[in-house]
Amino acid sequence: MKKSEKDGRRKLTSEQYAVLREKSTELPFTGKLLYNKEKGTYQCAGCGAELFSSETKYDSSCGWPSFYDAHKDKIFLKEDRSLGMVRTEVVCRKCGGHLGHLFDDGPPPTGKRYCINSAALEFRKKKA
Ligand code: FE
Repeated sequence: MKKSEKDGRRKLTSEQYAVLREKSTELPFTGKLLYNKEKGTYQCAGCGAELFSSETKYDSSCGWPSFYDAHKDKIFLKEDRSLGMVRTEVVCRKCGGHLGHLFDDGPPPTGKRYCINSAALEFRKKKA
């Protein structure tokens, strides 16, 4: 089995590839999941890992889907010194895909804002 099959890597659109594999950021207020309010799970578009729950999604007005918490065993955090800033990058643990960044201006109970590209996510609606 090839590594790409073993870690569940999926075929990506050019936009998904740019974000997940090249750490690009989609333009604010353009993502397909920004205003999604349905109940369900947000998976990694690169490998299907379950990263965020709709329960922790909130409207941060920042232009990207925002969550105040993550399935922390599915992600890891990495210092990102690109673009002359020090930020915390959020990465998929399973496939290494770039998801977005973590900021400290989120709401209670965590005070965190996981600012995540729509293109890095696939939404799976909860079955009724
Ligand atoms: Fe992934």
